[in-house]
Formats: sequence, C-alpha cells, structure tokens
Amino acid sequence: MSLAEITARMHKAEQAAGREVGSTRLIAVSKVQPNERVAAVLQQGHRLFGENKVQEAAGKWPDFREEFGDIEVHLIGPLQTNKARQAMQLFDAIHSVDRPKLANTLARLAQEMGQCPEVFIQINTGEETQKAGVLPKDADAFIQECRNLDLPVQGLMCIPPVEEEPSLHFALLAKIAERNGLTGLSMGMSSDFERAIALGATHVRVGSAIFGARDYG
Ligand SMILES: *Cc1c(COP(=O)(O)O)cnc(C)c1O
Repeated sequence: MSLAEITARMHKAEQAAGREVGSTRLIAVSKVQPNERVAAVLQQGHRLFGENKVQEAAGKWPDFREEFGDIEVHLIGPLQTNKARQAMQLFDAIHSVDRPKLANTLARLAQEMGQCPEVFIQINTGEETQKAGVLPKDADAFIQECRNLDLPVQGLMCIPPVEEEPSLHFALLAKIAERNGLTGLSMGMSSDFERAIALGATHVRVGSAIFGARDYG
C-alpha cells in the first residue's frame, strides 16, 4: 500500500473520531526492510521512521540523514542499558522505556550529554510474561519515577497481545495516560492503526502496510 493510501486512511479515521485531521503522526517502521524501499519512502518526502534495533539503525540512518537531511528516527524495540548511550545519539525518541535501571541510565546520560530523546513508557497491557513493558498496576509509580529523574516523558506505548482485540488494550493505555496527565499515545500497527486512532493514538507505528512484508530470510 502506498504512503498516500495509509495517510488517507489515517485522515479518515481521525475524521470519524472527531479528531483534527493530520493530528496523528505516522512512524514508518523500516526495520529489516531493504534500503531501496526505505529510500523510496524518503523520496516521497516522509521523514519519520521507526527501528527496533540499535545496531541496525546505526547501520543505515547516519547515511540516510546525510543524503536526505533532517530525519526523525524513533526506537520502538527493547533497549539494553549498555546500548543506551548509542541509542541517545541516534534516536529522537525512545518508545520502550520500561524499567528503573534503564530510566536511571538514560537520566544519567542525559545529564552528561545535555540532551535526551523524547521518552515513551512501554506498558505491558496484556500482562504477557514474554513481553517487555511495565505492568498496568505498576505504571503510575514508574511514570512518577521517570518524572522524578527529569526524563522528558511524552507518553505511553503498547503492543497488544496478537490474539486479543487491540481496542481493549488501546483504551487501557489511554486511561493510564489520562490519569497521569500524559498526552502521547504510541499505539496501532499495520493491522489496527485505525482502531488506535479512534482511541486517541498520537503516534501509529506502521511497517508492512507501507513497505510490504518483512523478509527475515
Ligand atoms: C515491527 C513493529 C511495528 C510494525 O509492525 P507492522 O505490523 O509491520 O506494521 C510496530 N511496532 C513495533 C514495536 C514493532 O516492532
């Protein structure tokens, strides 16, 4: 599907939800995609991308930034503390802050570097043991902890369980954000971004619908 088609569907979903058209940001998730496909989307003028691995992002975005100028890249995958410094140099936002050790490391590096990417706190809304994220019951305390560290917390992020209706998870994420006075909601992927927009997503993370299926071979 083309970038224009995705954008049109986003606008329609915003309109249907009574939201301002163009108020949701589209993160084009370029992980694993061949560089030609990414370059094609850059050539269409898109400037906001998502990656889930620090190493992979480090291998492509410095070159793309040199060629295409200002590009925003967001980290949407898990972050190990030993890669935090590199992540802070590469990314404009980190959507996967989910534990005190990482929050403390980011805060210390932010002091040292005098800058910090936007922070989204990942919530494990489905309480899945294999999935990253703070449990819903621990969310309020962790958000406060991050604020006490002076991290620039923009909002929350979730990845709903594959087998469940995502809207329930989007609604839960929105509720936790609202009671904590947070406006950013990173939720919705290729198969459910319209439902996420209906529930207030400010950032949707769309990969395969823009670039085609990922080839992990
Ligand atoms: C890969 C990925 C996406 C994009 O998934 P698609 O189904 O290809 O749109 C979104 N969010 C996260 C966290 C991802 O890892």
